[in-house]
Amino acid sequence: MTLKQSHDQPQGWTIIQISDTHLMNQDDLEFVHMNPEQSFHRVMAQIQHEYPHAHALIHTGDLAQVPAPETYQRYPSFMQGTGFAHYQVPGNHDSEEFFPFHDQQNKVHAISMGNWCLVLLNSAVKGKIDGWIGTEQLQQLDLILNQHAEQHILIACHHHPFEMQSRWIDQHILKNTEHLTDVLAKHSNVKLVLCGHVHQASENQWHGIHFLSTPSTCVQFKPHSDDFALDDEAPGYRVVHLKANGEFSTQVHRTQPIQKKINIEITGY
Ligand SMILES: [Zn+2]
Repeated sequence: MTLKQSHDQPQGWTIIQISDTHLMNQDDLEFVHMNPEQSFHRVMAQIQHEYPHAHALIHTGDLAQVPAPETYQRYPSFMQGTGFAHYQVPGNHDSEEFFPFHDQQNKVHAISMGNWCLVLLNSAVKGKIDGWIGTEQLQQLDLILNQHAEQHILIACHHHPFEMQSRWIDQHILKNTEHLTDVLAKHSNVKLVLCGHVHQASENQWHGIHFLSTPSTCVQFKPHSDDFALDDEAPGYRVVHLKANGEFSTQVHRTQPIQKKINIEITGY
């Protein structure tokens, strides 16, 4: 068999993941002694500088700290100004009522991008910090993975499916990971799952699927901590380069800290 290189064959797709912006209802208010709006804008400025031709940006939830309509109005208008195709899944802090879903609430969204398909799941449950993916969504996911069997799949959801070895944050894990992995195990095209929620970078592998978490665009949580603790790492984002053959590479980038002193005294989240 001869492999032919076509001039039209794209080299791949660049996906940016941001997470846990925790935006307030007013852009001049602080969250944990940091202005989340300014920090988010700094991260976005860096993304625009480093990856101006990114094909899509996925926000993996906790878009809002104050889930008010005005918070959710500012985000899409800012993102439209960046020119990036942008998609978002809700987190535990978000409001299902006002969240800018790609299409409908509680529907699995599939966005085709050449040889790849991005799949958006909603793992947030009203009134709960931990996550759960409902039966209806799991059935839709199974169907989508069949329908897109010829494409490589990237899944995004808010909650972490695997333990972070951090007792307090692992109480708030995706509680039905085995239901998700039961569906994933039936398909061979899922390559990676992106999540937020844990405000830190991590990598896990299960059955050849990579599970990646990403820093928050504002405050970070201390890895492997039994109790709630903030970390002094800078805000960040993840870039994923998807190749046409189903391979990918990924890196986490961080900004310079805005303020050295964040309030590490707070005891709850
Ligand atoms: Zn968060």
